[in-house]
Amino acid sequence: MNRSSNLKLLKINKLTFDFIIIGGGATGLGCALDASSRGYSVILLEKFDFCKGTSSKSTKLVHGGVRYLEKGQIGLVYEALKERAILKKNAPHLVKQVGFLIPAYNFFLKFYYFLGLKFYHFISGSLSFDKPQMVNKEAALKIVPNVNENLLKGGVVFFDGQFDDSRMGIDIALSADANKALLFNYMSVESLIKENSKIKGVVVEDTLSKDKFSINGANVINATGVFSKSIMNMDSLKFKAIIRPSQGIHLVIDKKFLNGNIGILVPKTSDGRVLFAVPWLGHVILGTTDTLVNEPSIDPIPSNNEIDFILYNAQKYMSLKPTRKDVKSVFVGLRPLVAKDLKSKSKDISRKHKIIISDTGLVSVIGGKWTTYRKMAEKVIDKSIDISGLDFKKSITSDLKISNGLKNIDYSKDSLSEKFYLSENLIIYYIRNEMAINLDDIMSRRSRCLFLDIKESVFIAPKVVDIMAKELSKNNDWKKDQLKQFYKLTKIYSI
Ligand SMILES: Cc1cc2nc3c(=O)[nH]c(=O)nc-3n(C[C@H](O)[C@H](O)[C@H](O)COP(=O)(O)OP(=O)(O)OC[C@H]3O[C@@H](n4cnc5c(N)ncnc54)[C@H](O)[C@@H]3O)c2cc1C
Repeated sequence: MNRSSNLKLLKINKLTFDFIIIGGGATGLGCALDASSRGYSVILLEKFDFCKGTSSKSTKLVHGGVRYLEKGQIGLVYEALKERAILKKNAPHLVKQVGFLIPAYNFFLKFYYFLGLKFYHFISGSLSFDKPQMVNKEAALKIVPNVNENLLKGGVVFFDGQFDDSRMGIDIALSADANKALLFNYMSVESLIKENSKIKGVVVEDTLSKDKFSINGANVINATGVFSKSIMNMDSLKFKAIIRPSQGIHLVIDKKFLNGNIGILVPKTSDGRVLFAVPWLGHVILGTTDTLVNEPSIDPIPSNNEIDFILYNAQKYMSLKPTRKDVKSVFVGLRPLVAKDLKSKSKDISRKHKIIISDTGLVSVIGGKWTTYRKMAEKVIDKSIDISGLDFKKSITSDLKISNGLKNIDYSKDSLSEKFYLSENLIIYYIRNEMAINLDDIMSRRSRCLFLDIKESVFIAPKVVDIMAKELSKNNDWKKDQLKQFYKLTKIYSI
């Protein structure tokens, strides 16, 4: 997957596609893979980098969502559990089983959680995840040595899926590229082209060269998540539903706070939401919050209240208690919730995805989960074929293996860091094959350094930028500018 070669193809071809997909997060990349693997011609346009939005900032779970069971949303959980199994089958290099302890501080709740999780396992119908188990206090402490033992009555251990979200996004992009989709990062859709009141294409700006292109397509899909309203407004100002971003933050702390490979799930925190402590890439992720915000932003900022809320609740359930000084990084994602009116509360707004088709034929897909990206894409492409009258070809993604971009990487070369693996050959690979353009692309989404450890990321950034400049034939001014932008970004990830 190479941006310069794709640009050449774009310039020599007629710029007409079966599908134009706006947005390169989980939803857009999923649509690009679904449509291209059916044999349609596809172009995907992402304003920043692939997965720069919410799709790199999730809790990293491939799950049905235990908490939705309690709300009676069995259909939603069932569909997600089915997708969990498909994703594990098609991307076994990324989706792994992870165990969670639900600590119980009274016997009634211990049985209640166990029954709920038995049902969760039953409806998953999948043999690929282990059964839940009820455990006594001693076993619970053995499994998660740092769980707060005061008044502990044991708990329930259950299993779900876990992944690296932006690596999955890049691997889906590589899979779509292998199916001849033309993918671009740093391409911003600026306006829509209409003919006889129907959408016929988009005008896009290459944000690196400032070149503009008019691209025609039989279908235009708006997969821009929390930014969907801005594309809908390019179509018509009549659209009434309100997209409210709901912010969720995560804190990254040392693995000693779990002291093992099993995470913790707290079903009800001080404000009634769930809290996860997830083991991830040798660290622990604590999250998340659910705070309605007014305007979407590509780099949202955590509030002090959110940070305190997570630490306060984590401290209640851990013996060794994490404090602000233990936080190595903080990252923030935005859920695009479609509300009926401005008074709707975040936790009452459905998490189910919505497909909205405008009078002019713009197909917008909003919400959902990473876990269900494949099924959502299948539904969106089916609907789009239906309205555009293209010849119907069936989706094949339920049995399609996702590429493993890092399969042939030689990890024996020296790492630039002692804390995580990042080597010169890996950086060069990211640039040549995965469209890494900026320092942030390498530090945040190809590798996950920025998400794991700010201090270490700042320490190795000059070495990474040197290697990038050599590979891309860039001068000192470029290096200085890259470092300046990156250090500015690290401020958002620090507390
Ligand atoms: C805090 C949090 C935790 C979550 N945890 C989980 C989890 O554990 N498991 C799970 O299954 N799901 C989880 N989710 C849900 C999941 O992350 C999202 O459903 C998914 O990432 C949404 O992807 P998307 O592609 O719709 O949006 P995004 O990833 O935001 O992508 C939209 C893209 O559109 C681009 N764009 C915007 N405007 C333009 C334009 N004009 N031109 C071109 N491109 C444009 C943006 O740059 C962006 O990259 C979580 C969500 C949040 C917020």
